[in-house]
Amino acid sequence: MSKERTFSIVKPDAVLAGKTGAIVQHLTDGGLKPIAMKLVHLSQEQAKGFYHVHRERPFFGDLVKFMTSGPCLVQVLEGENAIAKNRELMGATDSKKAAAGTIRQKFGTDIERNAAHGSDAPETAKYEIGFFFSGAELAALGVTP
Ligand code: ATP
Ligand code: MG
Repeated sequence: MSKERTFSIVKPDAVLAGKTGAIVQHLTDGGLKPIAMKLVHLSQEQAKGFYHVHRERPFFGDLVKFMTSGPCLVQVLEGENAIAKNRELMGATDSKKAAAGTIRQKFGTDIERNAAHGSDAPETAKYEIGFFFSGAELAALGVTP
């Protein structure tokens, strides 16, 4: 096993509900260490760009509205099998169907307002980290490529 990095978002519903700290604690307890983090309020353009892959889906407009509704915590997590581990800790996309004890079950509401995002593959993790964090920002934190 080797250390891996993934990209995570605490979505606006959870930030607004004051659950940011609890979610970061849940991820840390699960073996994922934040090595970079910041609060950002996404613009329309940023939200559309980040979820570009879903642009043809019927829920795209609502998703952009939700993701721009308030600040998000964006972070880089590091740990063993970080990508799969983060997805496991988050649970299923739909908070109503997510397994008991998972982040989405505990802190989300439904299939849209589901409290957290996590990259789904190594290429998307790399792309998503670069979408929010510049090389200079990461280097300043001692996070090397
Ligand atoms: P994420 O990419 O946010 O980690 P995911 O990979 O589990 O979530 P995706 O299929 O990539 O799920 O969907 C991206 C996001 O779009 C979901 O997290 C959710 O907020 C929203 N979403 C997905 N499916 C629906 C739907 N049917 N109706 C409304 N919103 C949806
Ligand atoms: Mg996804």
